[in-house]
Amino acid sequence: MNSLLLAGGRVVDPANQFDSVADVLILDGKIFAVGKNLAAPAGVGTFDARRIIVCPGLIDLHVHFREPGQTAKENIASGTAAAARGGFTSVVCMPNTSPAIDSAATVALIHERANEQGIVNVFVSGAITKAIAGEELAPIGGLKKAGVVAITDDGHCVQNNDLMRRACEYAKMFDLPLFDHCQDYSLVTDGVMHEGYWSTALGLRGWPAAGEEMMVARNILLAELTGAKIHCQHLSAAGSVNLIRQAKKRGVPISGEACPHHFTLTDAAVAGSEKFWAQDGKVLAASQGGGLPQWPNYDTNFKMNPPLRPAADREAILEGLADGTIEILCSDHAPHCDYEKEVEFDYAPFGITGLETELALALMQLVHTKRISLADMIAKFTINPAKLLNLKKGALTVGADADVTVFDPDCEWVFKPENSASQSKNNPFFGWKLKGKASATIIGGKVVWSEAAETVAA
Ligand SMILES: [Zn+2]
Repeated sequence: MNSLLLAGGRVVDPANQFDSVADVLILDGKIFAVGKNLAAPAGVGTFDARRIIVCPGLIDLHVHFREPGQTAKENIASGTAAAARGGFTSVVCMPNTSPAIDSAATVALIHERANEQGIVNVFVSGAITKAIAGEELAPIGGLKKAGVVAITDDGHCVQNNDLMRRACEYAKMFDLPLFDHCQDYSLVTDGVMHEGYWSTALGLRGWPAAGEEMMVARNILLAELTGAKIHCQHLSAAGSVNLIRQAKKRGVPISGEACPHHFTLTDAAVAGSEKFWAQDGKVLAASQGGGLPQWPNYDTNFKMNPPLRPAADREAILEGLADGTIEILCSDHAPHCDYEKEVEFDYAPFGITGLETELALALMQLVHTKRISLADMIAKFTINPAKLLNLKKGALTVGADADVTVFDPDCEWVFKPENSASQSKNNPFFGWKLKGKASATIIGGKVVWSEAAETVAA
């Protein structure tokens, strides 16, 4: 069951600079050949990929699966099901679980659960500090031995610069990238949305862009000082993009990622759909056809950390993605229960789900608008994260694991809660007309999810 011929698709494999109509033959879970007119050996099935895209399996290096400890929100079974539906073959889960992933035992537990219940590859990131408390380093060498692919205190940010410096030194020693959720607590305090016109108009406490930029600047200096690879998570502010652009020119080992909500939405969305569509949403309205999606003001599905920013920041993120400053796309998939989100804006938890919408939103905002090529977008979901994480993934090289995503970039669909595999439904894009959808998700040559199988089942 782990051999397959993917026939006649447009094969886009940025790692091998391949972009052509071709067949991909998978034998025994590995890529056997990529080329024209390949024949399926006896007993090997054929998947008709004509007119759609075949690419290396997509990687999302920033997801929250809430296991252990918060499985009412999500667990490894439901989280990986959502990943597969979104076209993702590998994910990196964040360590802010309960308990936090700060010991080899918890890493082992997640690997075990993922083997039993996960349907996509689950890689684990370990905490930088014990219990993600920012006070004492976690056993970084032990975490590496247990198999983590990165360290991060995501959800939190190490405030003590000396502690962060020591973490960088260990990360470098163990050849682990260090991810940082860039947030200066003294500037951000208890802000719940971007500090600006809309926070004032809505009477909500603001979170200034400088609260992110300050830590991006700190990280650049520490990467330069220690030589550690620091990766800035979910960039939201124009200043952060500028800082990283300049630092990369000097050869500093710094990188960044962007999430679709930050390059699609703006803080005007918190004031309700009418305000958003009348102002910052104008550029997106055409993609929605006649009926624009509606939502009320103070909708907590627009509360995330870092927050949605004004249109100029959204544009800066898009520019950073276009010029290569930001090399990685991811979701920051952050499930929360309805009852947690159905409270006043001030009290709701930060975050939205994203695994099932990120491919479409990235296509819409980057490729369909001709800001970047399809191959560049695929690279940001495949070989670029694989390189940062030192994973032998993200390419259709002969002999590689046959993790493959098949998707239709032009498929138009509407995202509905009943069609989401995530246990949580906190997503602002329900009811949106999206363009681009996974057709099949293949891991080690085995189809773990396909649109066709789902249609038959329904
Ligand atoms: Zn974060």
